[in-house]
Amino acid sequence: MKYDRAVKEAVLNYVEISDLVSQKVDLKRVGANLKGLCPFHNEKTPSFYVSDSRGTFHCFGCKANGNAIDFVMQTENMEFLEALESLADRYNIDLSPYLQNDGDSKDYSFIKLAYEMNREAGSFFHKNLFENKIALEYFEDRELNIKTIKTFGLGYALDSWDALLKHLKSKGYKEEDILKAGLASKSEKGKVYDRFRNRLVFPIFDYRSRALGFGARAFGNDTVKYLNSPESVIFQKSKILYGDRMARKGKQEKSAILVEGYMDLLQVHQAGFTNVLASMGTALTSDQANHISKRYERVLFAYDMDEAGRNAISRSIPILEQYGIAVNIVNISPAKDPDEYIKKFGGRAFAKRLEDAENSIKFKLDNIKIKYNLSDSKERYDYIVESIKYISNNCTDIEAEVYLQELSDISSISYEKILAEYKSNAGKKNKKNQKMINNKESGGYNNTIEQSLNSLPLISVYEKKLLAKACQNKDDALYIFNKTEGDFYNQDYLELFSVLMMYYARNEKFDKIAILEDLDLDSVIHLQNVVEETTESKNKEDTDYLLNLWTNEKIKIEIEKIDADIKERTFIDDDKSKIELRQLRKRRSDLLKKAYKNKEK
Ligand SMILES: [Zn+2]
Repeated sequence: MKYDRAVKEAVLNYVEISDLVSQKVDLKRVGANLKGLCPFHNEKTPSFYVSDSRGTFHCFGCKANGNAIDFVMQTENMEFLEALESLADRYNIDLSPYLQNDGDSKDYSFIKLAYEMNREAGSFFHKNLFENKIALEYFEDRELNIKTIKTFGLGYALDSWDALLKHLKSKGYKEEDILKAGLASKSEKGKVYDRFRNRLVFPIFDYRSRALGFGARAFGNDTVKYLNSPESVIFQKSKILYGDRMARKGKQEKSAILVEGYMDLLQVHQAGFTNVLASMGTALTSDQANHISKRYERVLFAYDMDEAGRNAISRSIPILEQYGIAVNIVNISPAKDPDEYIKKFGGRAFAKRLEDAENSIKFKLDNIKIKYNLSDSKERYDYIVESIKYISNNCTDIEAEVYLQELSDISSISYEKILAEYKSNAGKKNKKNQKMINNKESGGYNNTIEQSLNSLPLISVYEKKLLAKACQNKDDALYIFNKTEGDFYNQDYLELFSVLMMYYARNEKFDKIAILEDLDLDSVIHLQNVVEETTESKNKEDTDYLLNLWTNEKIKIEIEKIDADIKERTFIDDDKSKIELRQLRKRRSDLLKKAYKNKEK
């Protein structure tokens, strides 16, 4: 909602700041002002002053200062508009005259009415619960005590078509408003009836204690197990966090515990953790994340650890991280959910689990591990490759060290080998960027092969492609071997190529599983990369064409080396060097001729 600028003055004129502050701070009058212990810093002698005539507060200790709106913003972690509306609520200030005319000023009075009706309905449901033993027993059987039931205003919607309707009408509310607020529905024949019937009811409030609507669980055999208030201006599932009101009333913590359902939340709260919230769907929305970020630095996920729960967490992590919220995941096994965990093991054990919650990287790596059967050597290998890929994309080097070590422990592959693979992965990542810079600087080196493939010197790219061709077909492999004389520049590829040739001596067709037996882990990973990346990049160049490029590149490198040697010798004035110089120059010109010929092909 948007307001005129004048709204701020109106609220500030209305609110007596000493009245507002004294709800949080004991104030004593000193002359024209009031004085108390500062709520913003720790102190034993009061240096916090409030002036009603100026409508401001000021602390001489920590320099906190401002007006009534600032006070609410700072003590309750609200944004300007929230604080403004919250003050209007508390002091019954009508903001509607200040609403800017964008068509919703009419709604504003209805919104207030809807909150009121929801509150009235909530009290009605709550009263019903205590008059219907069997419904109350449901909660008691779930080990919720009376205090929790009362704190959260849990209720019961009678097994009746119009109990609530009658009740609300008796309080003076109009049928059309009750319908509009989503507390009743209308049949095709025009009959109006209660939306919630024979259900256990969980009233939903926002952090400002406004009654937004209800979540309701079937108590009988209704096929719809959970039914919520319909989506409306005030009930927007994507914005709601169940438990928010009680979390606000509790102690300010750095972390919020996030659970999936009502029962989880109630049980966790009852065990003494007031900083618990439940999202209304599976994955968190960015509205919810934004709201959480106002009050918390960290979220502790205490979700079911089944596939659905894990997926919901995975989807929520990037959303939370976008708002700068750190994420930890609580291990509640062997229990199914936090509700069950606390009933079985108690609050103290749960607190320990919160303390031991693992970070999101560890969680992600566990998710990768779950996918593979580690007693199978092929799957173990895939597991290592995927994990290393994830680590090199998501961790700092220091973090990586920890996880690589763990990976080594889990897989019984030596740390050195795992580290080497990580380095080659990390290298690719950096070189990709470098390559782009290099291309810019050199005005784009005329590279006839697409560059996406490579993080490698050009010659290695050609070798990688030749190697991939050799994997695809034995005849190609032999042809390449003859043409290159197996003289690969890249030592890794040279080694792989020799293994491949030995393999072909025994087999007709390349089989990436069978060849694993001939290789150590490092080589397997390299070879896998070669095959995969090359297939992805459409290895369509003709073998001869590639061999040609390779030869020229090889000549280029050799010439560069000769040039360096020549340069070195021009500074030494002895006979031996003169002879060597002559030889080098001869070799250089031969190579150039060869390259020239090659180009003409
Ligand atoms: Zn202070």
